[in-house]
Amino acid sequence: MLRGRLAPTPTGYLHVGHARTFALAAQRVHAAGGTLVYRTEDLDTGRCRPEFAAAAIEDLLWLGLRWQEGPDVGGPHGPYVQSQRLEWFRKTWVVLQASGHIYPCDKSRKDVERSLTAPHAEDDAEPIFPIALRPAAGAGREAREPGPTNWRFRVPDGQPITFNDELQGTQTFVAGRDFGDFLVWRKDGFPSYELAVVADDHAMGITEVVRGADLLLSTARQILLYRAFGWTAPTWVHNPLVVDASGKRLAKRSAGLSIRELRAKGLSAAQVLDTEIGSL
Ligand code: GLU
Repeated sequence: MLRGRLAPTPTGYLHVGHARTFALAAQRVHAAGGTLVYRTEDLDTGRCRPEFAAAAIEDLLWLGLRWQEGPDVGGPHGPYVQSQRLEWFRKTWVVLQASGHIYPCDKSRKDVERSLTAPHAEDDAEPIFPIALRPAAGAGREAREPGPTNWRFRVPDGQPITFNDELQGTQTFVAGRDFGDFLVWRKDGFPSYELAVVADDHAMGITEVVRGADLLLSTARQILLYRAFGWTAPTWVHNPLVVDASGKRLAKRSAGLSIRELRAKGLSAAQVLDTEIGSL
């Protein structure tokens, strides 16, 4: 039985790009007679706001999307709000720590940047963590809790990670080249996005993940987490990114294109979902 999910991060109002990815997730679940789960990903406590979480639910309901499990309807795999699931995330930290997949890391972003020979291409891309800054095997083995420090996943250098994308075909990324040791736990006491999303997709029995194509690299990292836990990974569907008339990524330029602004302008749900972005 297919189980899909909508997993918005409430740092702002959802825009038309989110609307289309979420609608695709919902349509696929609906067509297969499966179950759709709604999960609020509010671990970035500095930027997430309860009013955005409530607005996301309202906007997606207005678009006509319906889910069977979620913060507003309940269900057997809840709570469906990540900030209420820390106990579960801590258990997953213990598993990764005990199996030696992760290590504590006190290097700052500045340290990482300083030790890189070439500046990374896109300024918003996470710089690849240099192997020179990685501690020897066994670092952090005595820890009993994450403590106030970052933890990183030790990636298998040079190993290709290949997966099938239901829309875009076979994808391959190389660990250590396309991405480096990535954060799994933050020193502020929260899991990273990569760990939280894998831990929860597994706990909620998700069998298909639909997300934007900007997360392809994240999917490769997440596959390493599935392997480390010995869990079966879901199938992957990466929706091509929505770009505006000038080819710019919507996420960077979404003023006027939030679902509620379009609704206030008088557009119908169908128009928000189907109109060419340049003409919105
Ligand atoms: N909360 C994440 C986001 O909104 C979820 C993405 C995903 O894993 O599908 O970017």
